[in-house]
Amino acid sequence: MNSAQRIWIKSPLATLDSTCAGGLVVEGTRIAEVLAAGETPAAPVDQVFDAREHVLLPGLINSHHHFYQTLTRAFPAALNKSLFSWLKSLYPVWARLGEEMVEVSTQVALAELLLSGCTTASDHHYLFPQGLENAIDIQMAQAQKMGMRVHLTRGSMSLGEEDGGLPPQSTVQDEDAIMADSERLIQRYHQAEEGAMSRVALAPCSPFSVSESLMQASARLAEKHNVRLHTHLAETHDETDFCIKMFGLRPLDYLEKVGWLSDRVWLAHGIHFNEEEIRRLGAAGTGICHCPSSNMLLASGLCPTLDLERAGSPVGLGVDGSASNDGSNMIQEVRQAFLLGRLRYDAAEITHQKVLFWATEGSARCLGRTDLGALRVGMQADIALFRLDELRFAGAGDPLAALVLCGAHKADRVMVAGRWRVTDGAIEGFDLQALIERQKSLARKLAA
Ligand SMILES: [Zn+2]
Repeated sequence: MNSAQRIWIKSPLATLDSTCAGGLVVEGTRIAEVLAAGETPAAPVDQVFDAREHVLLPGLINSHHHFYQTLTRAFPAALNKSLFSWLKSLYPVWARLGEEMVEVSTQVALAELLLSGCTTASDHHYLFPQGLENAIDIQMAQAQKMGMRVHLTRGSMSLGEEDGGLPPQSTVQDEDAIMADSERLIQRYHQAEEGAMSRVALAPCSPFSVSESLMQASARLAEKHNVRLHTHLAETHDETDFCIKMFGLRPLDYLEKVGWLSDRVWLAHGIHFNEEEIRRLGAAGTGICHCPSSNMLLASGLCPTLDLERAGSPVGLGVDGSASNDGSNMIQEVRQAFLLGRLRYDAAEITHQKVLFWATEGSARCLGRTDLGALRVGMQADIALFRLDELRFAGAGDPLAALVLCGAHKADRVMVAGRWRVTDGAIEGFDLQALIERQKSLARKLAA
């Protein structure tokens, strides 16, 4: 499509934002017009896509994942365990990751996300065994090939078992090497401009796998290059106990001490905060990526999403790694957030609109994006269209609510930056069956 071409996504069956009931006009990579019911475009269009059978959403945004973990789904040795013992069974397996494994697992995760209506994906890769120093470069190349927008974080682990950390020594790296590679990746891939297709953030893995000095050095480097910071925090009671024992501080006090309590930061999980800590997070504007499936699977706990949001923290949504989900389906994660939220809050507070907001604008705010996550003029043309013609929707009343309540699991069409990447429920020019076979064989090799 040439950049001047205009497409009218006409009169959707329903939308998240009622101001675009007449649809929207995409011009180049952006949304050029938003139309009220009955309105027609102000200028001529080149194509009309009749969306009367489709529910129109802003492209979903996944703000926490570990793509490589798609290779260790339902991994026998890790079943029925909570976070620390789950990690200990998987670290030695992950330590054997190789280049082809990162390439293929990235494709698998991105394909699953794209097919579920996701247009922007963040990933947290923190394993760089010998020979895999270019893991993020491999991920970038795959995302580019598939046309997905990514925020890839340069993860890191520096605190091995010998120094009181959780991961085996063979999986941790030297701090100077981590910092040098972080800077290299920012310079090579971070696009600061509006409409960016690739951004880089820095992501020391967790309090129990990273030294205090690496947290501080990462914060300084992020400030120098104006990139974002990400880590896992307040995921389990074991982590709180670890922080008290190791640093003499609760996780949030530790975060503040290392210079991370700021609006440059978004945290995965954010479950075990007390009221006073929630107030401090909100005042700082620190984002929280809620990962409902992972929190249920690992029996980690229930994120106080609405309390965090009311205090001022952006709340986004993430599928988390596919060894604790064990899928990468973003629209299904919206349903999980909806159901889990109602175990903590009133039904009137956790609505289908609220959880869809977290998966779009909420995640965009976590990633520091003001050009994504909503259907407004001038924003990037990232959209997802869902049909309601499957058995699961038969008899549904409200089309938007049906996506969440009846359990939508695949988008019919997905557009990223003005280009269709999914049509009729399939990724254009992509051999899914061949990918599945490659992934299966690599997963067997990794497990052996
Ligand atoms: Zn995670």
